[in-house]
Amino acid sequence: MKYSAFNIFRQALKGNTGWQPAWREPEPKPHYDVIIVGGGGHGLATAYYLAKNHGITNVAVIEKGYIGSGNVGRNTTIVRANYLLEGNEPFFSHSLKLWEGLEQELNFNAMMSQRGVLNLYHSDGQRDAFARRGNAMRMHGDDAELLDRAQVREMVPFLNFDNARFPIQGGLLQRRGGTARHDGVAWGYARAADTRGVDIIQNCEVTGIRTENGVVKGVETTRGFIGCSKLGLAAAGNSSRVAEMAGLRLPIESQVLQAFVSEGIKPFIDQVVTFGAALFYMSQSDKGGLVFGGRLDLYNSYAQRGNLETVESVMEAAVAMVPAVSRVKVLRAWGGVVDMSMDGSPIIDRTPVDNLYLNAGWCYGGFKATPASGWCFAHLLATGTPHDLTRAYRLDRFARGYPIDETGHGAQPNQH
Ligand SMILES: Cc1cc2nc3c(=O)[nH]c(=O)nc-3n(C[C@H](O)[C@H](O)[C@H](O)COP(=O)(O)OP(=O)(O)OC[C@H]3O[C@@H](n4cnc5c(N)ncnc54)[C@H](O)[C@@H]3O)c2cc1C
Repeated sequence: MKYSAFNIFRQALKGNTGWQPAWREPEPKPHYDVIIVGGGGHGLATAYYLAKNHGITNVAVIEKGYIGSGNVGRNTTIVRANYLLEGNEPFFSHSLKLWEGLEQELNFNAMMSQRGVLNLYHSDGQRDAFARRGNAMRMHGDDAELLDRAQVREMVPFLNFDNARFPIQGGLLQRRGGTARHDGVAWGYARAADTRGVDIIQNCEVTGIRTENGVVKGVETTRGFIGCSKLGLAAAGNSSRVAEMAGLRLPIESQVLQAFVSEGIKPFIDQVVTFGAALFYMSQSDKGGLVFGGRLDLYNSYAQRGNLETVESVMEAAVAMVPAVSRVKVLRAWGGVVDMSMDGSPIIDRTPVDNLYLNAGWCYGGFKATPASGWCFAHLLATGTPHDLTRAYRLDRFARGYPIDETGHGAQPNQH
């Protein structure tokens, strides 16, 4: 069923009794061409592009909870393509282009809002680094503008420009960056994949991976064994646990990242603004709440909740950047488990187990990657070869000495 103004009108005349469920609740089949573990943004996007780009529709997405219960429904929804390194920028550039046409493509309102992402800088050294990053972005065809202090003040006048420790000197702006509604993205991909014949199996946990002579045969689940010709893992915060079922040890640590939403206030902040002096960012949701977050909780955990020390440091950064928010009440806070790779960059690759493919290591930046990740993972699953955009995201890059260390922190997952 197409979502359109005409259909809203037509359904209203029938008392809204004619709407169909956005996706089916099928029983699992005994065997699929492709099974994807994880009904987050990446798993659902992969299933959609497998069907759409490669005509492979005998596909199941197996999700232990409900669609959107993982990080795709827990993140702060920032979408951008402002990377420096060659391995990253072309991939994220492709992703941003897919975001720009996503709602028409999926026939679903994902509330994509290109409100601009502004990264503040506070020193000459940081300005030079941002200039370099902006040049790299422009070389790949993306937009970037280096703003001085006066230009930032005109755009976001309520920032603390004269903070004694972190005076704001300017910012790097990507106008095409912004936000999208996180669960809307999951629902949009789920509905579009289902329409093309993909089975979305919710409340079905994968508990084991069956292999014979080093070849994947299927998955053991809480609803029984389901066979497959190819298996793709897109289990985000649980990547290591799921890969372990096939005997793999991943170069990944799982850590908690928290996010916060304030009470709703009048329109206040138009862009996404990130603080350059500490890991902190803020935007305003369409309901009026300020949405913000900071750094990781800095210890390994599978708990989807964080600790108070991080709450305190995030609030400190918020007030340092925007003193006015000290009078706003925080309504909700939550945590998600993110799979931090050793170099802070993702992995999309084959594994040493035949017919087992891996999509993991998205750290705290995988939401913006959702369309391109699905696009490229589908390519890998369909063809057996990595997509050109993900040639740098190989699993063996750590062994070969080709990490993509965007932040320059070395093998320190919690620092990326
Ligand atoms: C607080 C927070 C803020 C963030 N902010 C941003 C941001 O602003 N911008 C950005 O780009 N990124 C952000 N991220 C990161 C982003 O959310 C993730 O990188 C991305 O969502 C991960 O991909 P996914 O959507 O497929 O993951 P998920 O939605 O987590 O999907 C994985 C799914 O696998 C399922 N699963 C796990 N184990 C099994 C099993 N054994 N059997 C079956 N199913 C299983 C899980 O239930 C889950 O639904 C943020 C993350 C957090 C936690």
